[in-house]
Amino acid sequence: MEKIMMKTPLVEMDGDEMTRILWKMIKDELIYPFVDLKAEYYDLGLEHRNETDDQVTFDSAYATKKYGVAVKCATITPNAARMTEYDLKEMWKSPNGTIRAILDGTVFRAPIVVKGIEPCVKNWKKPITIARHAYGDVYKGSEMKIPGPGKAEIVYTAEDGTQTVELIHEFKEAGIVQGMHNICGSIESFARSCFNYALDTKQTLWFATKDTISKKYDHTFKDIFQDIFDAEYKEKFDAAGIEYFYTLIDDAVARVMKSEGGYIWACKNYDGDVMSDMISSAFGSLAMMTSVLVSPDGNYEYEAAHGTVQRHYYKHLKGEETSTNSVATIFAWSGALRKRGELDEIPELVAFADKLEAATIKTIEDGKMTKDLALITTLENVTVLNSENFIKAIRETLEAML
Ligand code: NAP
Ligand code: MG
Repeated sequence: MEKIMMKTPLVEMDGDEMTRILWKMIKDELIYPFVDLKAEYYDLGLEHRNETDDQVTFDSAYATKKYGVAVKCATITPNAARMTEYDLKEMWKSPNGTIRAILDGTVFRAPIVVKGIEPCVKNWKKPITIARHAYGDVYKGSEMKIPGPGKAEIVYTAEDGTQTVELIHEFKEAGIVQGMHNICGSIESFARSCFNYALDTKQTLWFATKDTISKKYDHTFKDIFQDIFDAEYKEKFDAAGIEYFYTLIDDAVARVMKSEGGYIWACKNYDGDVMSDMISSAFGSLAMMTSVLVSPDGNYEYEAAHGTVQRHYYKHLKGEETSTNSVATIFAWSGALRKRGELDEIPELVAFADKLEAATIKTIEDGKMTKDLALITTLENVTVLNSENFIKAIRETLEAML
């Protein structure tokens, strides 16, 4: 078979620990033999971030803005222990946070559904994608402990000095208060990213907040979504045969449980944080969750939802065998290649991405999988493979399909 040619480079962001090991195996076994990979390589491994004073992370995000599509390996977010482990100059920020701030994107997380790894909710047949607004609310809140009787207020001082005051509570005893905010521009970006992604994946979009109780705060989210939808997206949704609908968060939760999946559920920051953990664990495994950052102007960065799988890496360093699941990282690659193929009109590249995903799923459904899946599968007599042999088994399936 001739290798598939690419036109525009992918932005490749390499990462850390066990996922860095898988990254190379995936490229060697599943990409290079089939695709004449054009990639602009950025090494986001912690050592290189430290050497470049984290400039490489910024450069990789700017490159994503330039080319439009990136694929990212999981990376370490440094903490105190990592400072000594890697002898860091500074506690560098989370690369995902840096990239997200530059691209102004929304993160969409979806489980990879395979037969034999059954969701706890038995009527879920198709993936449920969570879109989490990644700015503000309680994550940028200010809080105060109220020691005793007194009055707590919200004060807004305009640039000309005029003040608007809203009473929070007349305290008769000790208590607590919280102030939080959001920005209309950020909510608009969130809405556009959601509408674009729904069109892109041809899935209906749900959005839910608690606007009946939060008549200004949550209601603003609801209004911004509706205004943008009516003005810019309604016709496109009709043409694509998909829907946008808004409902109350409690109603959404009830409906999600009774649904068969196959839609996008847009959530405010906190709801998305909580619900994405519920969805991923109910679907089976963090190692089977994909994640894509979509910017409002149409840039895409694909990655796995899990981290660098540190515990497995330390085993690997000791020369012990690992059985680390590479599925979400493979899907990051297939997602990025498919998007590149769509944007550059290379149908063979799109078809290859589809086959790579199908081969990965078929390998598992044929009973060949890593240990994390073997522990939860309903299939019988499965073969547990190590990290490398699982990827090689996918290559065999893929070669048979091509
Ligand atoms: P993790 O890498 O997601 O792994 C946590 C545990 O989940 C693993 O120890 C393993 O369980 C299981 N697991 C996760 N992915 C797996 C896979 N592909 N195959 C098999 N099992 C898998 O989280 P962490 O160990 O808490 O974090 C490690 C590093 O990742 C941290 O430095 C953190 O900053 C970073 N991180 C990066 C990202 C990102 O770049 N997007 C996201 C999250 C965390 P068992 O040990 O029981 O086998
Ligand atoms: Mg969470």
